[in-house]
Amino acid sequence: MSNIVITGAGKGLGKAISERFGKEGSNFYLCSRTQSDLDSLESELMKLNSNNKVTKIICDISTASGVDFIFNTISEITDRVDLLINNAGVFLPGEISDPDCNNLEQQMNTNFWSAYRLTRLLLPAMKSSRTGTIINMCSIASLDAYPGGSHYCISKFALYGFSKCLRQELIPYNIRVISVLPGATWSNSWSGVELPEERLMRAEDVAEVIYTAYSLSNNAVMEEVILRPQLGDL
Ligand code: NAP
Repeated sequence: MSNIVITGAGKGLGKAISERFGKEGSNFYLCSRTQSDLDSLESELMKLNSNNKVTKIICDISTASGVDFIFNTISEITDRVDLLINNAGVFLPGEISDPDCNNLEQQMNTNFWSAYRLTRLLLPAMKSSRTGTIINMCSIASLDAYPGGSHYCISKFALYGFSKCLRQELIPYNIRVISVLPGATWSNSWSGVELPEERLMRAEDVAEVIYTAYSLSNNAVMEEVILRPQLGDL
Protein backbone atom coordinates (compact mmCIF):
# COMPACT_ATOMS: atom_id res chain seq x y z
CA MET A 1 0.00 0.00 0.00
CA SER A 2 1.23 3.49 -0.82
CA ASN A 3 2.19 5.91 1.96
CA ILE A 4 0.44 9.15 1.01
CA VAL A 5 0.80 12.56 2.68
CA ILE A 6 -1.91 15.10 1.82
CA THR A 7 -1.97 18.60 3.30
CA GLY A 8 -5.26 20.47 3.49
CA ALA A 9 -7.07 17.14 3.34
CA GLY A 10 -10.12 18.10 5.39
CA LYS A 11 -12.09 19.98 2.75
CA GLY A 12 -12.42 20.67 -0.96
CA LEU A 13 -9.75 19.34 -3.29
CA GLY A 14 -7.72 17.64 -0.56
CA LYS A 15 -10.78 15.72 0.61
CA ALA A 16 -11.71 14.69 -2.94
CA ILE A 17 -8.15 13.53 -3.62
CA SER A 18 -8.10 11.53 -0.37
CA GLU A 19 -11.37 9.84 -1.30
CA ARG A 20 -10.11 8.97 -4.79
CA PHE A 21 -6.99 7.30 -3.43
CA GLY A 22 -9.07 5.79 -0.63
CA LYS A 23 -10.91 3.55 -3.09
CA GLU A 24 -7.69 1.58 -3.60
CA GLY A 25 -6.49 1.29 0.00
CA SER A 26 -3.55 3.38 1.25
CA ASN A 27 -1.71 4.52 4.35
CA PHE A 28 -2.79 8.13 4.70
CA TYR A 29 -1.13 10.97 6.59
CA LEU A 30 -3.75 13.70 6.46
CA CYS A 31 -3.19 17.26 7.69
CA SER A 32 -5.43 20.21 8.47
CA ARG A 33 -6.36 22.41 11.44
CA THR A 34 -9.88 21.04 11.94
CA GLN A 35 -10.10 17.75 13.84
CA SER A 36 -13.79 17.15 12.99
CA ASP A 37 -13.07 17.36 9.22
CA LEU A 38 -10.38 14.69 9.47
CA ASP A 39 -12.53 12.52 11.76
CA SER A 40 -15.37 12.44 9.23
CA LEU A 41 -12.93 11.92 6.33
CA GLU A 42 -11.41 8.97 8.19
CA SER A 43 -14.88 7.39 8.57
CA GLU A 44 -15.53 7.95 4.87
CA LEU A 45 -12.19 6.36 3.90
CA MET A 46 -12.85 3.30 6.06
CA LYS A 47 -16.20 2.86 4.32
CA LEU A 48 -14.52 3.10 0.91
CA ASN A 49 -11.89 0.47 1.75
CA SER A 50 -11.34 -1.22 5.10
CA ASN A 51 -7.60 -1.57 4.31
CA ASN A 52 -7.12 2.20 4.52
CA LYS A 53 -5.04 3.39 7.46
CA VAL A 54 -5.34 7.03 8.53
CA THR A 55 -3.00 9.12 10.64
CA LYS A 56 -4.60 12.50 11.33
CA ILE A 57 -2.22 15.39 11.88
CA ILE A 58 -3.83 18.50 13.31
CA CYS A 59 -1.64 21.57 12.95
CA ASP A 60 -1.24 24.98 11.39
CA ILE A 61 0.89 24.37 8.31
CA SER A 62 1.62 28.07 7.86
CA THR A 63 4.18 27.91 10.68
CA ALA A 64 7.57 26.20 10.70
CA SER A 65 6.66 24.44 13.96
CA GLY A 66 3.45 23.12 12.39
CA VAL A 67 5.42 21.64 9.50
CA ASP A 68 7.98 20.15 11.93
CA PHE A 69 5.07 18.52 13.77
CA ILE A 70 3.85 16.90 10.52
CA PHE A 71 7.33 15.61 9.74
CA ASN A 72 7.91 14.28 13.27
CA THR A 73 4.54 12.53 13.33
CA ILE A 74 5.20 10.79 10.01
CA SER A 75 8.80 9.92 10.97
CA GLU A 76 7.67 8.12 14.12
CA ILE A 77 5.72 5.70 11.90
CA THR A 78 7.65 5.42 8.63
CA ASP A 79 10.55 6.80 6.66
CA ARG A 80 8.90 5.93 3.33
CA VAL A 81 6.69 8.48 1.58
CA ASP A 82 5.47 7.38 -1.84
CA LEU A 83 3.33 10.42 -2.57
CA LEU A 84 3.40 13.91 -1.10
CA ILE A 85 0.58 16.23 -2.15
CA ASN A 86 1.24 19.84 -1.15
CA ASN A 87 -2.38 20.98 -1.38
CA ALA A 88 -3.14 23.20 1.63
CA GLY A 89 -3.87 26.74 0.60
CA VAL A 90 -5.94 29.80 1.24
CA PHE A 91 -7.38 32.48 -1.05
CA LEU A 92 -7.67 35.98 0.36
CA PRO A 93 -8.51 38.89 -1.95
CA GLY A 94 -6.11 41.80 -1.96
CA GLU A 95 -4.07 44.20 -4.05
CA ILE A 96 -0.48 45.40 -3.74
CA SER A 97 -1.55 49.04 -4.07
CA ASP A 98 -4.09 48.83 -1.23
CA PRO A 99 -2.25 50.17 1.86
CA ASP A 100 -4.75 48.47 4.18
CA CYS A 101 -4.26 44.99 2.71
CA ASN A 102 -1.65 42.98 4.62
CA ASN A 103 -2.42 39.37 3.74
CA LEU A 104 0.56 38.53 1.52
CA GLU A 105 2.54 37.02 4.38
CA GLN A 106 -0.34 34.76 5.46
CA GLN A 107 -0.79 33.48 1.91
CA MET A 108 2.95 33.02 1.34
CA ASN A 109 3.18 31.07 4.59
CA THR A 110 0.21 28.83 3.81
CA ASN A 111 0.49 28.45 0.06
CA PHE A 112 4.25 28.47 -0.49
CA TRP A 113 6.39 28.12 2.65
CA SER A 114 4.39 25.12 3.91
CA ALA A 115 5.17 23.17 0.73
CA TYR A 116 8.79 24.32 0.64
CA ARG A 117 9.44 23.37 4.26
CA LEU A 118 7.61 20.02 4.27
CA THR A 119 9.20 18.91 1.00
CA ARG A 120 12.69 19.73 2.26
CA LEU A 121 12.10 17.70 5.42
CA LEU A 122 10.79 14.65 3.55
CA LEU A 123 13.30 14.77 0.68
CA PRO A 124 16.35 13.10 2.26
CA ALA A 125 14.50 9.78 2.74
CA MET A 126 12.86 10.03 -0.69
CA LYS A 127 16.21 10.74 -2.34
CA SER A 128 17.92 7.80 -0.67
CA SER A 129 15.12 5.44 -1.69
CA ARG A 130 15.25 6.95 -5.22
CA THR A 131 11.51 6.79 -5.57
CA GLY A 132 8.39 8.84 -4.96
CA THR A 133 6.07 11.46 -6.37
CA ILE A 134 5.53 15.06 -5.26
CA ILE A 135 2.44 16.92 -6.44
CA ASN A 136 2.15 20.67 -5.91
CA MET A 137 -1.32 22.24 -6.05
CA CYS A 138 -0.59 25.36 -8.03
CA SER A 139 -3.36 27.25 -9.86
CA ILE A 140 -4.32 29.07 -13.01
CA ALA A 141 -3.25 31.98 -10.79
CA SER A 142 0.31 30.61 -11.13
CA LEU A 143 0.19 31.56 -14.82
CA ASP A 144 -1.70 34.84 -15.06
CA ALA A 145 -2.33 37.70 -12.67
CA TYR A 146 -5.85 38.95 -12.20
CA PRO A 147 -7.24 42.06 -10.52
CA GLY A 148 -8.20 41.66 -6.89
CA GLY A 149 -6.12 38.54 -6.33
CA SER A 150 -2.56 39.88 -6.43
CA HIS A 151 -1.31 38.47 -3.15
CA TYR A 152 -2.79 35.04 -3.90
CA CYS A 153 -1.22 35.12 -7.39
CA ILE A 154 2.20 36.00 -5.95
CA SER A 155 2.02 33.00 -3.60
CA LYS A 156 0.92 30.66 -6.41
CA PHE A 157 3.60 31.96 -8.81
CA ALA A 158 6.12 31.15 -6.05
CA LEU A 159 4.74 27.64 -5.60
CA TYR A 160 4.85 26.99 -9.35
CA GLY A 161 8.46 28.26 -9.54
CA PHE A 162 9.38 25.98 -6.65
CA SER A 163 7.68 23.06 -8.38
CA LYS A 164 9.47 23.62 -11.69
CA CYS A 165 12.87 23.89 -9.97
CA LEU A 166 12.20 20.78 -7.90
CA ARG A 167 11.27 18.82 -11.02
CA GLN A 168 14.71 19.55 -12.53
CA GLU A 169 16.57 18.83 -9.28
CA LEU A 170 14.93 15.46 -8.71
CA ILE A 171 15.24 13.94 -12.18
CA PRO A 172 18.48 12.12 -11.21
CA TYR A 173 16.76 10.66 -8.13
CA ASN A 174 13.87 9.12 -10.05
CA ILE A 175 11.39 11.27 -8.09
CA ARG A 176 8.50 12.60 -10.14
CA VAL A 177 7.36 16.21 -9.55
CA ILE A 178 3.98 17.27 -10.88
CA SER A 179 2.53 20.79 -10.99
CA VAL A 180 -1.27 20.81 -11.03
CA LEU A 181 -2.82 24.10 -12.16
CA PRO A 182 -6.60 24.07 -11.77
CA GLY A 183 -8.98 26.88 -12.55
CA ALA A 184 -12.11 27.51 -10.53
CA THR A 185 -13.23 24.35 -8.72
CA TRP A 186 -16.18 24.01 -6.34
CA SER A 187 -14.88 23.84 -2.77
CA ASN A 188 -15.27 25.44 0.60
CA SER A 189 -13.41 28.50 -0.66
CA TRP A 190 -16.31 29.25 -3.07
CA SER A 191 -19.06 28.91 -0.46
CA GLY A 192 -21.66 31.65 -0.72
CA VAL A 193 -20.77 32.47 -4.34
CA GLU A 194 -23.87 32.33 -6.51
CA LEU A 195 -22.99 30.69 -9.82
CA PRO A 196 -24.60 27.87 -11.79
CA GLU A 197 -23.16 24.46 -10.85
CA GLU A 198 -21.71 23.90 -14.32
CA ARG A 199 -19.66 27.13 -14.21
CA LEU A 200 -16.94 25.59 -12.01
CA MET A 201 -15.13 22.27 -12.15
CA ARG A 202 -15.83 19.50 -9.68
CA ALA A 203 -13.13 18.64 -7.16
CA GLU A 204 -13.66 14.97 -8.14
CA ASP A 205 -12.43 15.74 -11.68
CA VAL A 206 -9.19 17.25 -10.40
CA ALA A 207 -8.81 14.28 -8.03
CA GLU A 208 -9.25 11.83 -10.92
CA VAL A 209 -6.48 13.49 -12.93
CA ILE A 210 -4.15 13.42 -9.93
CA TYR A 211 -4.90 9.74 -9.39
CA THR A 212 -4.15 9.04 -13.06
CA ALA A 213 -0.90 11.04 -12.93
CA TYR A 214 0.24 8.99 -9.93
CA SER A 215 -0.79 5.71 -11.56
CA LEU A 216 1.42 6.08 -14.65
CA SER A 217 4.54 3.95 -14.77
CA ASN A 218 7.73 5.43 -13.35
CA ASN A 219 8.91 5.92 -16.93
CA ALA A 220 6.50 8.82 -17.36
CA VAL A 221 5.71 12.02 -15.48
CA MET A 222 2.70 14.21 -16.13
CA GLU A 223 4.89 17.25 -15.56
CA GLU A 224 2.24 19.98 -15.67
CA VAL A 225 -1.53 19.69 -15.69
CA ILE A 226 -3.77 22.64 -16.57
CA LEU A 227 -7.46 22.15 -15.89
CA ARG A 228 -10.08 24.79 -16.63
CA PRO A 229 -13.86 24.94 -16.42
CA GLN A 230 -15.22 23.99 -19.82
CA LEU A 231 -16.85 27.44 -20.00
CA GLY A 232 -13.49 29.15 -19.34
CA ASP A 233 -11.99 31.08 -16.46
CA LEU A 234 -14.18 33.20 -14.22
P1 NAP B 1 -10.58 24.65 0.81
O1 NAP B 1 -11.84 23.96 0.45
O2 NAP B 1 -10.65 25.94 1.56
O3 NAP B 1 -9.66 23.63 1.62
C1 NAP B 1 -8.39 24.01 2.04
C2 NAP B 1 -7.82 22.95 2.97
O4 NAP B 1 -6.54 23.43 3.45
C3 NAP B 1 -8.70 22.73 4.19
O5 NAP B 1 -8.68 21.38 4.58
C4 NAP B 1 -8.00 23.60 5.26
O6 NAP B 1 -8.29 23.07 6.53
C5 NAP B 1 -6.52 23.45 4.87
N1 NAP B 1 -5.74 24.57 5.37
C6 NAP B 1 -5.87 25.88 5.04
N2 NAP B 1 -5.01 26.62 5.74
C7 NAP B 1 -4.34 25.76 6.55
C8 NAP B 1 -3.34 25.92 7.54
N3 NAP B 1 -2.83 27.13 7.85
N4 NAP B 1 -2.87 24.84 8.19
C9 NAP B 1 -3.36 23.60 7.89
N5 NAP B 1 -4.31 23.38 6.96
C10 NAP B 1 -4.78 24.46 6.31
O7 NAP B 1 -9.68 24.96 -0.47
P2 NAP B 1 -9.63 24.25 -1.91
O8 NAP B 1 -10.39 25.11 -2.84
O9 NAP B 1 -9.89 22.81 -1.80
O10 NAP B 1 -8.09 24.50 -2.25
C11 NAP B 1 -7.09 23.52 -2.10
C12 NAP B 1 -5.86 23.97 -2.86
O11 NAP B 1 -6.17 24.10 -4.25
C13 NAP B 1 -5.32 25.34 -2.42
O12 NAP B 1 -3.92 25.33 -2.46
C14 NAP B 1 -5.89 26.27 -3.47
O13 NAP B 1 -5.11 27.45 -3.60
C15 NAP B 1 -5.81 25.39 -4.70
N6 NAP B 1 -6.71 25.79 -5.79
C16 NAP B 1 -8.06 25.86 -5.58
C17 NAP B 1 -8.89 26.26 -6.63
C18 NAP B 1 -10.37 26.36 -6.45
O14 NAP B 1 -11.03 27.01 -7.29
N7 NAP B 1 -10.97 25.74 -5.46
C19 NAP B 1 -8.32 26.56 -7.88
C20 NAP B 1 -6.96 26.47 -8.05
C21 NAP B 1 -6.15 26.06 -7.00
P3 NAP B 1 -8.45 23.94 7.86
O15 NAP B 1 -9.02 25.26 7.47
O16 NAP B 1 -9.31 23.11 8.73
O17 NAP B 1 -7.06 24.04 8.37
